[in-house]
Amino acid sequence: YSSELQKSEQMEMVSHLAASVAHEVKNPLQVTRGFLQLLGGRNVASHKNYMGLAIQELDRAAEIIDGFLDFAKPQTEDFKDLNIEDELQQITSILTPLAQRKGGQIELSAEPIFIKGNSTKLKQALINIVKNSIEALPQDGKIEIFAKLFTDEAVILVKDNGVGMTESELKRIGQPYYTSKENGTGLGLMVTFQIIEAMGGGIEYTSQKGQGTLVSIRFPSANVQKKPLMNQTS
Ligand code: ADP
Ligand code: MG
Repeated sequence: YSSELQKSEQMEMVSHLAASVAHEVKNPLQVTRGFLQLLGGRNVASHKNYMGLAIQELDRAAEIIDGFLDFAKPQTEDFKDLNIEDELQQITSILTPLAQRKGGQIELSAEPIFIKGNSTKLKQALINIVKNSIEALPQDGKIEIFAKLFTDEAVILVKDNGVGMTESELKRIGQPYYTSKENGTGLGLMVTFQIIEAMGGGIEYTSQKGQGTLVSIRFPSANVQKKPLMNQTS
């Protein structure tokens, strides 16, 4: 059991906890805020200051909770040049034993493409995607992963011949707690979408029930060096 896979699962658990905390605590906070606002309207001069502070503090608590939910978003300061080919090779070796246990296989065909991002977070996002494919596989299932550089975009495709999704199932992926699995958390793709968005990328799912699923992920490429700005001398 690899540590990257464990990290991804831990992250899903923390994310689960964060989503629960947010859900449980936000409602009473909002109710209390409304109540304080009502009292504040009654013009009890000496209490007004304290109530103002109480409201400020409640708002701050709500912000902290929102911040906790955003924990998956990598900070742009830790962005480095990442080689997609390397990242995908690592993920493939982490997940191949899992696929084989289901009687399936993973095929990787990637070229070296560079993007700016956080390696751990990118791996977590990709592991979540490929793990879903593995969990969807039938016997003799196959997952194909491609990575290719287009003009200024790195494109990663993850294709499986698994159970697929209906139109209405497809619409719900990425929503917190949406899962079709008995032991699912329904948080994997929520985290994944956040990570990809924070890296300036995009993700799209197409799927057909009983046929399989295709995931397309795009990142701005860092392969093409932008021309440095000319020194203005005028
Ligand atoms: P979980 O895996 O815990 O259910 P996810 O957020 O990772 O949560 O996925 C949500 C749901 O999206 C899954 O339960 C499954 O129904 C659907 N899904 C995601 N990827 C695939 C896939 N490759 N093939 C079929 N269904 C998928
Ligand atoms: Mg999942």
